[in-house]
Amino acid sequence: MSPEQLRRYLTYYQDLGVHNVYRRASQPAAEMPMELPPLEPVGDTLAKIIEDIGDCRRCRLCEGRSRIVFGSGNEKARLVFVGEGPGADEDAQGLPFVGRAGQLLTQMIENTAAKEGIPIRRADVYICNVVKCRPPQNRTPEPDEMEICGQFLWRQLMALRPRAICALGSTAAKALLATKDGVTRLRGRWHKWRDIPVMVTYHPSYLLRPYNQNAKREAWEDLKTALHFVYD
Ligand code: URA
Repeated sequence: MSPEQLRRYLTYYQDLGVHNVYRRASQPAAEMPMELPPLEPVGDTLAKIIEDIGDCRRCRLCEGRSRIVFGSGNEKARLVFVGEGPGADEDAQGLPFVGRAGQLLTQMIENTAAKEGIPIRRADVYICNVVKCRPPQNRTPEPDEMEICGQFLWRQLMALRPRAICALGSTAAKALLATKDGVTRLRGRWHKWRDIPVMVTYHPSYLLRPYNQNAKREAWEDLKTALHFVYD
């Protein structure tokens, strides 16, 4: 197998959530067929993904949820924001980022766009989360919950095919970039999820804490970079 074929196989399995591989000793290298099956059904749509999620019982998060929070916004959005998971307000309304953190996110998007002369509102982007059901007490989603729900996030992102993704906080960054690095290390520069550029920045909930003025400034810078990249 050529290094390029091997790279494609490893990327494919990484996208499936497999992060460790082992090498079997003394097996002759078999010729392997090159074509990998797609991770998402051909002609996938958001409507089809919602249908496939159904009344999801695939992980324990279903036990405490009121509503599945799939995502909202413009289905043709050039920019997609990915958060961690629904909180209490989102769980009650079935919509992402509608609580205090959501109001800050709206302000960040709309104020930065207005200041930079970019004619977009929140309704022009698309917003979703890594997990679609509210974790109890707003705890961080567990790795298995992220992996199970991740298959729907991958399909959602492939169906949306934005020009760029903005990962809000470390859970979104971990899910998209399979990294252990924190936001402070990752923010402010471009990464990739498959072939789509990803900007990592602080989660709005973190920015709501009063002592994070510096982080707030940095988040505004990150957003400015992402907006110009996508809309210029
Ligand atoms: N925090 C998130 O990560 N997502 C939401 O939808 C709301 C708050």
